[in-house]
Amino acid sequence: MRPILVLAGAIVAAIAVVPGFRAMHGPDTIVRGPGVTSLSSLSAYHKALAGSPGDTAIYDLRGSTPGGTVLVLGGTHADEPAGYLAAVVLLEQARVDAGRLLVIPRANASGFTHNYPQEGHPTSFTVATPWGRRQFTYGARATNPVHQWPDPQVYSLPGSGQTLSGSETRNLNRAYPGRPDGTFTEQIAFAITTLITREHVDLALDLHEASPEYPVVNTMVAHQRAVDLAAVANMTMQSAGVVIGLETSPEHLHGLSHREWGDATGAFAVLMETTNPAQGRLRGRTDADLVVNGRDRFYVLASSRGGLPVPFPDSGWPLSTRVARHLAGVAALVGSLGDLTPDKAVVLAGVPDYETLVTRGLGAFLRKP
Ligand SMILES: [Zn+2]
Repeated sequence: MRPILVLAGAIVAAIAVVPGFRAMHGPDTIVRGPGVTSLSSLSAYHKALAGSPGDTAIYDLRGSTPGGTVLVLGGTHADEPAGYLAAVVLLEQARVDAGRLLVIPRANASGFTHNYPQEGHPTSFTVATPWGRRQFTYGARATNPVHQWPDPQVYSLPGSGQTLSGSETRNLNRAYPGRPDGTFTEQIAFAITTLITREHVDLALDLHEASPEYPVVNTMVAHQRAVDLAAVANMTMQSAGVVIGLETSPEHLHGLSHREWGDATGAFAVLMETTNPAQGRLRGRTDADLVVNGRDRFYVLASSRGGLPVPFPDSGWPLSTRVARHLAGVAALVGSLGDLTPDKAVVLAGVPDYETLVTRGLGAFLRKP
């Protein structure tokens, strides 16, 4: 009798969670901002992605005068909402006076169709705006296993011979430069690398978050060709009071955007990281409030004992501050591109500066769908 009761209970529990997971397969609504001049899809750069869960929208913002081309990626990892929302604010608010800005807010769209329930992660979170609450998906680091299965025991990166844990075979930021006939995730990577080459992208930025105990948070990681450009941007940010580190992309760490974009294309490649306590191992209660408000007393304690690479204040690391850091980084790096190569200048308007975004909050810069 007892096994039947357990089975019945499991079926009831499974039915109860189905609506939440099914809802994740419908993408969040993103509003086309006044600066968006056209919309295309990643499959334009690799036809095999057309109609697949790896296809994703590319927002094109073209200025009226010539200049360089900048690409900004959010959502490489769908459980790192500051990168995703910085890309959303950029495409919903920015206008381009010179040059061209390409924004992909959900770089790994498949990662937004599932999450990690065993981490206690919410499937979504909401941001308060002047007109109500706007909902966004909280996804997963990797491609949905429904879309790429099974994982090998060991992921051997094509070309470099580097080996990683098998689950990393679904990590877009280990799949670059990608292969047209590779795994589903390698094909997404291939399409992005092809876009960078075909559109002559001058500066390619990949926006991430990581746990507060990860040593590379609040840092830019730049390909060696982009280090001078990133150093100038770094000084611009520091002089505006935004403390941020700078590291050079390790030469033998393969598959990552900042390494492979820089090696395989002519673009300056930079990755940025902010601090997301919902990803950390020391966190307490895990819910949408932690994702948005970024407050956690265990991280405050760890910080007070000198255990974290960057301070964790009582006020936490709210999503507004994390998005503000990413947008300050994008503005500084774009400015630096124009300073170092004036014919490649990209002139942006309408992007909130760090102080304005922190003071007014993220919701003030999200449009009503
Ligand atoms: Zn990441």
